[in-house]
Amino acid sequence: MTVPSPRRLALAESMASYTTVRTGGPAEFFTRCGTAEELVEAIAWASDGQHALHILGSGSNLLVADEGVSGLVIKLDGELARIEISGPQVTCGGGARLPSVAAKAAAAGLSGIEFGVSIPGTVGGAVRMNANAYGGDLARTLDWVDVVTAAGVERRLPDSFDFGYRRSNLKEGEVVSGAGFTLGPADPETAKLALAGLREQRKETQPWGVKTFGSTFKNPDKEASGGRSSGQLLDAAGCRDLRIGGAGFSEKHANFVINHGDATTADVVSVMAEGRRRVFEAFGIELEPEVQTLGPVQIPEDWGWGA
Ligand SMILES: Cc1cc2nc3c(=O)[nH]c(=O)nc-3n(C[C@H](O)[C@H](O)[C@H](O)COP(=O)(O)OP(=O)(O)OC[C@H]3O[C@@H](n4cnc5c(N)ncnc54)[C@H](O)[C@@H]3O)c2cc1C
Repeated sequence: MTVPSPRRLALAESMASYTTVRTGGPAEFFTRCGTAEELVEAIAWASDGQHALHILGSGSNLLVADEGVSGLVIKLDGELARIEISGPQVTCGGGARLPSVAAKAAAAGLSGIEFGVSIPGTVGGAVRMNANAYGGDLARTLDWVDVVTAAGVERRLPDSFDFGYRRSNLKEGEVVSGAGFTLGPADPETAKLALAGLREQRKETQPWGVKTFGSTFKNPDKEASGGRSSGQLLDAAGCRDLRIGGAGFSEKHANFVINHGDATTADVVSVMAEGRRRVFEAFGIELEPEVQTLGPVQIPEDWGWGA
């Protein structure tokens, strides 16, 4: 059986503008899906044509290969990016943006997802990455997650994701189309002030308004690193503002790689490799990347990626 092409199928769409670091080449095929039915159809089309399937959120933790990505890249919008609030229940599409979820919840007098205000990703990306910040925890308020595959939609419970530090057990080709949260009560004004406070805290400690994917490396095991974060290790190894080509570690936060204007993904990988080399030489610690890849990103042979 041949499945019809997804609606709005684009060829050779540049992926750089769909990521926050703004590097990388085009996707062979790209489409937006606004409903679960469109999503199932697009996944079936990719599987029928033996095209690799990739899912893109806000691209805030993503490094796209300069030579592009073969297969189909899907972005969620429409119904799959909705945010609905009913009493303490918040229902979101997988493509809903976390800062918007946090803001809407606060305005509705709900507490528990404030940390999302400083994470520029989607609900789907947050489930996949088990995103959190400032002691907030996605799993604490998550009730259920809808996962779409070629077989259709399946509702899963948080326990089934085996969440760990910046990881879940979601497999390639499994797409988070929606999630439900139950939040606690809060005074809307107090909740809005809490969000403003978190935004300020971010601006003080991290580069703001720049092209980056946030933390480059996961924080290493505390025992091995003497409690130092990746940023502290990179800083101590002389990586603050280290630049290669158009990319460099931030002067403000050494674990953030910044695209200074014309960086390629190859530049970003070179900066990461040099940072990783210096930290290993100085402290014997092998940093593990937090950022995810799309397409054949050229990784130096001597280090694993998220292994
Ligand atoms: C300035 C800045 C600050 C940040 N601060 C934090 C922080 O404090 N805490 C934190 O945890 N992260 C932080 N991040 C990283 C990033 O925002 C999170 O990892 C976020 O959860 C990624 O979501 P996304 O939608 O952008 O996913 P993308 O970057 O688009 O994708 C990341 C991964 O998730 C997968 N994915 C995306 N959507 C779906 C879906 N619907 N279903 C299945 N898989 C999907 C992708 O295939 C990919 O493997 C920061 C990033 C930036 C740029």
